[in-house]
Amino acid sequence: MAKLQPVRGTHDLLPAQARGHRHVVETARAVAARYCYDTIDTPIFEFTEVFKRTLGETSDVVSKEMYSFEDKGGDSITLRPEGTAGVVRAVMSGGLAQDLPLKYFYAGPMFRYERPQKGRQRQFHQVGVELLGVPEPSGDVEIIALGAQILEELGLLTDTKLELNTLGDSESRASYRRALVDYFGEHRAELSADSQHRLDRNPLRILDSKDPGDSEIVAVAPRFADHLTVEAADFFAAVCAGLDDLGIAYTLTPTLVRGLDYYCHTAFEFTTTALGAQGTVMAGGRYDGLMEIMGGPPTPGVGWAAGIERLAMMSGDTPPPPRPFALIPVGEDAVRRATPLAHHLRRAGITVDLAHRGNLSRRMKRANKTRARAAILLGEDELQRNAATLRDLDSGDQVEVSLDDLEARLAQFR
Ligand code: ATP
Ligand code: MG
Repeated sequence: MAKLQPVRGTHDLLPAQARGHRHVVETARAVAARYCYDTIDTPIFEFTEVFKRTLGETSDVVSKEMYSFEDKGGDSITLRPEGTAGVVRAVMSGGLAQDLPLKYFYAGPMFRYERPQKGRQRQFHQVGVELLGVPEPSGDVEIIALGAQILEELGLLTDTKLELNTLGDSESRASYRRALVDYFGEHRAELSADSQHRLDRNPLRILDSKDPGDSEIVAVAPRFADHLTVEAADFFAAVCAGLDDLGIAYTLTPTLVRGLDYYCHTAFEFTTTALGAQGTVMAGGRYDGLMEIMGGPPTPGVGWAAGIERLAMMSGDTPPPPRPFALIPVGEDAVRRATPLAHHLRRAGITVDLAHRGNLSRRMKRANKTRARAAILLGEDELQRNAATLRDLDSGDQVEVSLDDLEARLAQFR
């Protein structure tokens, strides 16, 4: 039989990597909890419509990257490519929009049919936060501060740069869109095929094109700043001032955009040069029009999502699990006694590894491999005296301990 491989773009998280991911999630969850963002878990698949409506037919995700299939009941189902649509759908399904503001944290796998490379998988994982029902710029500031705090507690803040832009309100965007259509229209022939297509469907997206030829044209394109209404400019100034008050540094990046109409005002990304081409670790912004597009009441929203793989790669190794005690029985009677003894100690909160098989030397090898703090040697002679030999595997010292005192003695190791 051919060797079974994981599906292209998917990865097993072996224990060391799973630990790295868990460290990211637990750190993020703990910081989010301090900001009163409580965990929400939505299904990993939704009706395809949920993503089509929210992400837009012209987005890369919907047009190229979705894992969609028809289920046995004939419904079109999609594995979630991102978290916001499901959260907003859940708020609507659960009638929670009466209860604003809502502050949510989520973590879990996402699925996109992309070309796999370093930092880019087909199944990947995100943590994210959403703040619903807060139209004030202080909401944007809180969301960004929360992201920065998580990066700081992961030890990554100094390796990242916060890039910030505004997409204004709908009036600003309409005016800017006209300016872009005029400008890019004059350069249509020089644009990449993708961007020519974007020009007809979603001209703002051209700004975020990765094509080098497009970049030259984009570099001297009209600036959003010249098309902001007074209200939109004031809103952005308030976000910037709020970040200044917190001492959160940022760079203004006029080409940072989101192509869809319900995105407005603040758009931001935390980027890094530490990961090569896949430089964005956390991306977010304000999406005041989203819930309405899904058929719900108009409800302002702002949030971000961060790629766990990229954060974990930057964080490096995570401390290994606590060191166990290796319980090593020698002889038949001892083997029979080992499982109940391990059971008793574990119930008392002590970490015990039992190898189940092998002679003394194999079991000692395993004890070293698990980085055991000490070995509990259970031999026939000791058992006759209701005792075990406790060997400190760091110092090599050993003592005989009555089984009645064992639990107390092990506790002293911690
Ligand atoms: P990119 O420009 O890298 O494709 P994106 O705009 O598609 O990113 P978002 O949808 O904003 O990304 O997702 C937020 C974050 O999720 C990204 O900044 C990144 O850290 C992570 N992410 C997105 N797609 C992938 C993927 N295929 N593999 C691993 N991480 C990903
Ligand atoms: Mg992408």
